[in-house]
Amino acid sequence: MVEANALDRHRVAHEWPVAYVETNALIERIAGRLIERLGDHGVRAAAAPATHNYDPESLTCRWSHKSMGVIAGLGSFGLHRMVITDSGCAGRFGSLVIDAELRFTSPPVRERCLYFHDRSCWECVTRCPVNALSMEGAIDKQRCNHRLVGLAKGLGGEAVADACGKCAIGPCSLESAVH
Ligand code: SF4
Ligand code: SF4
Repeated sequence: MVEANALDRHRVAHEWPVAYVETNALIERIAGRLIERLGDHGVRAAAAPATHNYDPESLTCRWSHKSMGVIAGLGSFGLHRMVITDSGCAGRFGSLVIDAELRFTSPPVRERCLYFHDRSCWECVTRCPVNALSMEGAIDKQRCNHRLVGLAKGLGGEAVADACGKCAIGPCSLESAVH
């Protein structure tokens, strides 16, 4: 999937949005099963949808699966504002909130983005076809979303879903970029 999406600077590989749609369904199935199983043990739980749980105007969401992943110690934010885990940034997160007290430990803080590590990479910034990313670590959500909406309408290729992923195919795509 990552290799296919790296073949062309602008055109999104068919595999990418197909995996996006399938993974959205998978995350929701897993969350549903977990909620059911926790319920069997008397624990209430809730989950937000895998995606599109944001305000359509401001593009901000009240529940970020990515932030929960970072809080849980599974990864760190890269320059592209995605979460890089030890298996890279081309994966997805789902999360639940549960009504139970758990013992917790503080996860070790580990840098996985080369830009934040030693400023040796900014590939995601240069790969973004609409310059939505910057070296300051900001993302222009409106600019990114404009491209995604265009892709979903079939303006930029095949009309499968609003998925692009051109910033997720650099050295941090399938593993931590910092070793
Ligand atoms: S492509 Fe490079 S700069 Fe961008 S998030 Fe990955 S490691 Fe960091
Ligand atoms: S998803 Fe596409 S448009 Fe959005 S920041 Fe990444 S490369 Fe740019």
